[in-house]
Amino acid sequence: MQLESMMLQEVKNDVITPSGRVKIHIRCRNCGEVFILRGVKDSRGHVETGFRRCLCDNDRDFDIEPVG
Ligand SMILES: [Zn+2]
Repeated sequence: MQLESMMLQEVKNDVITPSGRVKIHIRCRNCGEVFILRGVKDSRGHVETGFRRCLCDNDRDFDIEPVG
């Protein structure tokens, strides 16, 4: 559910604020591939990473958590 809300918000804003940078750890539950992405957290706590899908074409089944 987390990922869906992230993806729906993709590139909605033209302006990216300099604050709220976070690292996001994404692990594919299908093939186990791990991605570390930089996301931007907005004022509502929503995180945008721009991540679309895994190499295995999975685009909805992930473990997602912030890093450090
Ligand atoms: Zn995968």
